[in-house]
Amino acid sequence: MKNGLPLAIDVVEAPASKIDAVDFENLVFGNVFTDHMMMCDYEDGEWQTPRIQPYGPIQLEPSAKVFHYGQAIFEGMKAFKDDEDQVWLFRPEANIDRFNRSSVRLAIPEFPKEVFLEGLETLLNLDRDWIKQGFGSSLYIRPFVIATEPGVSASPSKNYKFMIICSPAKAYYSGEVRVVFAEQFSRAANGGVGFAKAAGNYGAQFYPTNLAKQEGFQQIVWTDASTHEYLEEAGTMNIFFRVGDKLLTAPISDRILDGITRKSVIALAEEFKVPVEVRRVTVKEIVEAAEKGELKEMFGAGTAATINPIKGFGYQGKRYELPEQENSYASFFKTKLMEIQYNKAEDKFGWRY
Ligand code: PMP
Repeated sequence: MKNGLPLAIDVVEAPASKIDAVDFENLVFGNVFTDHMMMCDYEDGEWQTPRIQPYGPIQLEPSAKVFHYGQAIFEGMKAFKDDEDQVWLFRPEANIDRFNRSSVRLAIPEFPKEVFLEGLETLLNLDRDWIKQGFGSSLYIRPFVIATEPGVSASPSKNYKFMIICSPAKAYYSGEVRVVFAEQFSRAANGGVGFAKAAGNYGAQFYPTNLAKQEGFQQIVWTDASTHEYLEEAGTMNIFFRVGDKLLTAPISDRILDGITRKSVIALAEEFKVPVEVRRVTVKEIVEAAEKGELKEMFGAGTAATINPIKGFGYQGKRYELPEQENSYASFFKTKLMEIQYNKAEDKFGWRY
């Protein structure tokens, strides 16, 4: 990428599409990938000409640094199709900015925003038939960067591979979700990488999450690592609590992912005059609110499920169930967000792209 100017993208089209073999009614999240992928290598201190080519395996040396030191980051975003067959992204520049913030933290060179967007648009145009119309159908987009330099010295890689792969998704229904508040394990620490979408943040959650699953909880709500007194976020979503009519959520910090769904919910809450407090939320106040019947709702906010209602939680061996809620905030915000994403409502905030 000479002088910071994006080079033209080399495109090699797949000789035939795999789309006819895909059962779009029975998609399992993240298992099927579209015909094409985007790729760009970082060599000799700069990003080289980006390519779009048929989706398929890549070759790496076994000593490639990503395998040894986890120098890898990713993003998760979605494309939606409206009734006129137009394709929309939702706040993609926020994802790209976060992608680059994650890269900086992992000593990975930032990727130029214009090339990211131009490549993504080219890719989506090639694979647009994979994006189906209808509320809930979408294309999940997974950009990532990995350290590819061979050699096992523990130092930042000199070479990287940027890629975007895409997977068609149906409405995400994760079943009834119950969560447990973390008392022993932690996801992120002050000064650490919690705010980054570093691959290792996710791998490190699998073991404690498996233990939680054995107890009947689908996810963990992480608490701050030093005291375990403050509720922070879940493994792949930010968390909101509704106490009475008030919506509470933790502030962003270097331990918490700056979720795009989260900030969109906060903006919508302000627009629709739902009282929202962004502040540290204690385990104690939520347990007390649950005991007094004031905890009306909990829900997760994230790209995969948009809004994921939570039916109950566990803490110190006790289980708390939340009441069935008519006119829930969860379904209100989910509908409002989806109407914007699918071009069915005015886009006051300029979120559609
Ligand atoms: N927290 C974590 C740890 C996540 O991985 C995600 C998913 N990206 C979220 C929150 C939600 O972020 P977003 O709304 O941008 O998808």
